[in-house]
Amino acid sequence: MNNHVTVLEIDGNALLHNLAYFKQKLEPKTKVLAVVKAFGYGSDGIQIAQFLEDKVDYFAVAYSHEGVALREAGIKKPILVLHPQTPNLQQIINYRLEPNLYNFKIFNAFLELADEIPLMNYPIHIKFNTGLNRLGFWHTDIPNIISRLKETNHIKVQSLFSHLAASEDLEEKDFTINQINNFAYIAQQFYKHLGYEPMLHILNTSGVVNFSKAQFDMVRIGIGLYGFGNDKEETAQLKNTHNLKSIISQIHLIDPGETVGYNRAFIAKSPTKSATIPVGHADGLSRKLGNKKGYVFINNKKAKIIGNVCMDMIMVDVTKIDCKEGDEVIIFNSQEMLHHISNTSETIIYETLTSISPRIQKKIVS
Ligand SMILES: *Cc1c(COP(=O)(O)O)cnc(C)c1O
Repeated sequence: MNNHVTVLEIDGNALLHNLAYFKQKLEPKTKVLAVVKAFGYGSDGIQIAQFLEDKVDYFAVAYSHEGVALREAGIKKPILVLHPQTPNLQQIINYRLEPNLYNFKIFNAFLELADEIPLMNYPIHIKFNTGLNRLGFWHTDIPNIISRLKETNHIKVQSLFSHLAASEDLEEKDFTINQINNFAYIAQQFYKHLGYEPMLHILNTSGVVNFSKAQFDMVRIGIGLYGFGNDKEETAQLKNTHNLKSIISQIHLIDPGETVGYNRAFIAKSPTKSATIPVGHADGLSRKLGNKKGYVFINNKKAKIIGNVCMDMIMVDVTKIDCKEGDEVIIFNSQEMLHHISNTSETIIYETLTSISPRIQKKIVS
């Protein structure tokens, strides 16, 4: 049981709001897959999956052990494993996870296992590379894949999918449309020659925002569920789900000329009151936030981080804030604060969220 005093509260009502926001952009029949990989983007994939289980059609994780954790927590919905590896295939079957088969190495390995057990119509997903050049078969592999599929009833294609490379970037619109068209062509080949029609999906969050016509049978929503739309107007319609709170561990009164923290990076020019907070770079707060670049809120007032961010702590300037040891500290609780952290850390919101360490206690509230 994690009883760490620094707690990430996951806002369940915000999750529901964001899910409803994307659903109203979709046809009623379009399925929704909630992406809960990487601990639900730095929060808690299990708590989120339990909370959303009866409101979405599918879950996805990146690696098989992430899917195992969901199954062990009692999640019954289908779980797509986006990036399985050959040593994990038996585990995938044991936990009835659904593998993405993205090349012949993993396709053949899975089919061999399916034949040997034998499995019957085991649900698998096939991914095509349409331009991201990361994972996926080439369209030239289609005849070979189809002939292998027609020889077996041990596996059954649940879906065909692909992933967009620049769905958030309208300057790359032509490239994205070309990816969508290539995917539609691939799907057509399967529909023509396979004898049944697997589900199709290509859109992630910003795909839904910018190319909702290409929703096919399902969409895969990750960052949007957590309150970010890769676009100012969209993000304004969403609600932040990740709220990081802590407390003041200790207050120091510092005389002019004295310093705070490692490398004596902060030097007091006048009498200064500092507060020590139990959260540091090991918890996901970049050192780039040190030396007054980052801030927190204490009793509704902004307190800047002074000196360097330590592994387990930060010190903030509370000279002008009425506060005491034990008072609540907001590390972030809004899109604006998270954008500031992300920009100051010179990264993107995906990395800022997923950097939140497993050491922090996670709690869904609604
Ligand atoms: C992570 C991931 C997603 C989710 O993307 P968002 O931009 O967070 O919505 C969808 N599909 C695949 C293949 C992914 O790896």
